[in-house]
Amino acid sequence: MRLGAHLSIKNGFEGALSKAVELGCEGFQMFVGNPRGWTRKPIEESEYHKFIEKRAETDIWPVVVHLSYLPNPASEDEELYHKSVLTLAEDFRRANRLGADFFVFHPGKSKGSSMDMAMERVADAVNLVLEEVTGPTVLLFENQAGAGTEIAATLESLGDLIRRVKYPERVGVCWDTCHAFAAGYDMATEEGCTAVFGGFEKYIGLEYLKLFHLNDSMGKLGSGLDRHQHIGDGEIGLTGFSWLVNHATLSRVPGILETPQKDDGDDLRNLATLRALIKKG
Ligand SMILES: [Zn+2]
Repeated sequence: MRLGAHLSIKNGFEGALSKAVELGCEGFQMFVGNPRGWTRKPIEESEYHKFIEKRAETDIWPVVVHLSYLPNPASEDEELYHKSVLTLAEDFRRANRLGADFFVFHPGKSKGSSMDMAMERVADAVNLVLEEVTGPTVLLFENQAGAGTEIAATLESLGDLIRRVKYPERVGVCWDTCHAFAAGYDMATEEGCTAVFGGFEKYIGLEYLKLFHLNDSMGKLGSGLDRHQHIGDGEIGLTGFSWLVNHATLSRVPGILETPQKDDGDDLRNLATLRALIKKG
């Protein structure tokens, strides 16, 4: 399995790329603007070009862009929904300009309107964005932990979302192991994992599985708690991750760490833990 981490853009997109190479990542993920703000500093054309040129000198794949945290494309609040669609479009445009392979976003939460209406709003947002922004980047729905009124915490709902998209070949799923576990999918045992991906094939189709977020979970199975933990230190533990990184077909899907980061040492340690699980030959 190709492995990487979510990296900071404090030194620009190129800085994140350099850090990925320095840490020995095979791929990486980044934001393309302030993750906790709505405003976006304009980006010079040359920044995109420099990133694409620099990347061509490396073997990095995939480059993943993650949408910032504030947008909620499932919201029934018109102003918030409008802002969310605009930001989704802008960040997705930036991802395409950078030549990113994947763009990951959380489908969001409703505030009490029906699940069906929330799903329809997300699908409308995605259809609009895919019509407006074209390019190489595949847009991925990330499974959520299912806290409160979060949508897309189940395989069935992710499959439902994909069937509402007008351009299914331009979308896919990012499967976050921590969110899945918190939502009640047993990623800790071999039998559990086998059942989960059997369900994935049944309700979504494994051809839509494009990326993993590899995070252990502080919360227990089905807790709904979205708290990431270092690989092996949480409730999932090494058995589940070992099953995944050694699986004949699933290990061809790349994995990105979003585990706690005090410094580079944390990412290096989690990468080493995963690599040590990969059985040679
Ligand atoms: Zn994630």
